[in-house]
Amino acid sequence: MTLIVEPRIVKISTRTEIDIRRSLPHAKLGRIGAWVFLDHFGPTNQVDGMVVASHPHTGLQTVTWPFAGQVHHHDTIGSSQVLRAGELNLMTAGRGIAHSEKSLQVGAELHAAQLWLALPDNVRGIAPSFEHHADLPKKEFGDASVTVFIGEFAAVVSPAQVFSPLVGAELRMPVDGQTQLPLNPEWQHGLLVAQGSVVANGQPVGLNELAYFDIGSSDLEITATEDFVGLLLGGAPFEEKIIMWWNFIARSQEEIVSMREHWNLSHEDFGTIVDDIGEWIRAPELPNVTLRAR
Ligand code: MN
Repeated sequence: MTLIVEPRIVKISTRTEIDIRRSLPHAKLGRIGAWVFLDHFGPTNQVDGMVVASHPHTGLQTVTWPFAGQVHHHDTIGSSQVLRAGELNLMTAGRGIAHSEKSLQVGAELHAAQLWLALPDNVRGIAPSFEHHADLPKKEFGDASVTVFIGEFAAVVSPAQVFSPLVGAELRMPVDGQTQLPLNPEWQHGLLVAQGSVVANGQPVGLNELAYFDIGSSDLEITATEDFVGLLLGGAPFEEKIIMWWNFIARSQEEIVSMREHWNLSHEDFGTIVDDIGEWIRAPELPNVTLRAR
């Protein structure tokens, strides 16, 4: 039986006007390999669909993948990068970075996914870095066009830097198209339907749903029941216990407390961002319960 995750709708407390569908983390599914966070939003024509002022990250990589539209990224190590559909922005937060993101009004609607990869303990304190990749490997598998934007899939390797064995790929297939994709049986996998609908290994998967395939699955047979756009996510099980709170990933409550205070009391330490949003987002109050690693 394939697990189907239906996203929950979240409104983030910034000027982002749109509903966000969050599939990870989810009550039914904590992570897929090192993929610990998955937001999917749009398509939308709303003005200022995404306007997220400066905010920090630690211990993770942010992966931004637009299916349509454009997003302007700024960060505290001096990056200023317009991201277009079919291109990847990858920000390795390491010990700490802040960034801002703003969708551009370019006629095209905004439709994107934003994901986080947990960094393994031995590298989570590295210096922050930013990569933009416009030239990514693509290959046809049956009727599916597969762009491997991060990690590796069936010997197709993305140039983006990763720190654990994983894949992130965009799949596109016309209605009635069929494909059979080889999966690494030692990895966990997920298939997000971002547009259209499919039948995956015999199981219908509707728009915005995430189908999960546990270790032991060695292939994924997909038939598109409508014009389909989706993401294939996978990775070796990420066994480390982590605490994810707000925009931070840490290993203990004490670390989270200190990361929060550091940002709220001296966010200038992270560096400065020159953008046309010109604000920064304070970390919220911590909950009254002890945060537990999971
Ligand atoms: Mn962010």
